[in-house]
Amino acid sequence: MSKQNLIKYCCHCGAPTTLRIPAGDTFERHVCDTCDHIQYQNPKVVCGCIPAWGNRILLCRRAIEPRKGFWTLPAGFMENGETIQQGAARETIEEACAKITGQTLYRIYNLPKIDQVYIMFRGQLTEEDGFAAGTESLEVQLFETDEIPWDKIAFQVIQITLEDYLADQKSGQFPVLIKNIVSSYRC
Ligand code: ZN
Repeated sequence: MSKQNLIKYCCHCGAPTTLRIPAGDTFERHVCDTCDHIQYQNPKVVCGCIPAWGNRILLCRRAIEPRKGFWTLPAGFMENGETIQQGAARETIEEACAKITGQTLYRIYNLPKIDQVYIMFRGQLTEEDGFAAGTESLEVQLFETDEIPWDKIAFQVIQITLEDYLADQKSGQFPVLIKNIVSSYRC
């Protein structure tokens, strides 16, 4: 089901737009009344990583809103011109100053209520102490499995990812799954 956030003005020429179904399309779009530019709105991709050292997991405490002060895995919006693997590695460097190796796909989350797709990888830190707080983090820390601050996890997707990962750690099997998050709460 397509939904459109209000776009009042054309990003090309600045003229007002009208919400209508363009010829040959099946969804309503904001179409410029002057230059006919169609402003498509599509889901955004968020790439992230579970950086591990042995059984320990690297978490970042957020220095920015939303959920400032809460713990999360390195993750963020994919940039143009990069792959999802590069995006996850870049976010890990930006938020945790940490390099990862052995990147493996772990989870894909559909979040249709907020028009996002999350792609989470597993990865190993290249050095045990090879991390520090990036500009978006207050602190970065390796947590033993029984030390995860469950009451201070920033987002539902991260909570689910950590729960799944710890369960998989016990079995030693890390199957790739696609999960649907139906909550409208920001992930
Ligand atoms: Zn225009």
